[in-house]
Amino acid sequence: EDMQEKFDREIAEMGVRIKDADQVKVRGDVFDEVTLIALYKLVHKKLISAIGGSISTGKEANVFYGEEDDRGIAIKIYRIQTANFKAMGEYLMGDRRFSSIRGSRKEIIFAWTKKEYSNLMRAHDAGIPVPEPLAFDRNILLMEFLGEDEIPYPQLRVAEIDDPAATYREILGYMKTLFAVARLVHADLSEYNILYAERPYIIDMGQAVGLDHPRAAAFLFRDVKNINRFFSRYCDVQDEQEIMQEILGA
Ligand code: ADP
Ligand code: MN
Repeated sequence: EDMQEKFDREIAEMGVRIKDADQVKVRGDVFDEVTLIALYKLVHKKLISAIGGSISTGKEANVFYGEEDDRGIAIKIYRIQTANFKAMGEYLMGDRRFSSIRGSRKEIIFAWTKKEYSNLMRAHDAGIPVPEPLAFDRNILLMEFLGEDEIPYPQLRVAEIDDPAATYREILGYMKTLFAVARLVHADLSEYNILYAERPYIIDMGQAVGLDHPRAAAFLFRDVKNINRFFSRYCDVQDEQEIMQEILGA
């Protein structure tokens, strides 16, 4: 029995449907022992009924399309063997919610997964359009799938934006609400972490920090500059300092 067969058998034993076998290839760096246990737990709780194709292979995580009943979900799997776990530790340490996290690579990545879940929940509760977080276990996060026919909405950088000035205002509004209501700074906001289909959706909130993080204001300023840099190609943008004052003063 080779790796692929073993993986297929283990997944089949869990009762998960594989939607596109070629797409869910065994990848030792993604579906390791820990990940299979987490997957098993989520399947057992009836939170995953099918695994589909790979949507994205990022620096720290892989995202797969999935289903729960007939509802599309995004399955984000943080790789245990990620190169970036040291940087993760620094974001965690400055955040009062997670500052007690010490220790191994695995523990840091589990905390990071929980942090993204909790950040998405706070943003969702504040009424910001983000994928609704559904569950997490170890290094796996399940959330609402933003897309159609198993295809994610395009990232803002490649989307056809109907009304750039209105979309720009909308995103600034989300940043204000994120700060004032959810009490968070995204800290990696750019045209890569916004999906667009008639309206913008904010994604990828693992690194988002609470306002008590010592670098919260610096992260916010970087986010503002990224958004202004992107939109200055399409419409007039507001002065960066003025935006900062509006958000910080809110
Ligand atoms: P990374 O940390 O690798 O940048 P992201 O959270 O930004 O991870 O997700 C990477 C890509 O996966 C996104 O650009 C998008 O195409 C897809 N994706 C992530 N979350 C979702 C979701 N909830 N619905 C649909 N697609 C998603
Ligand atoms: Mn991203």
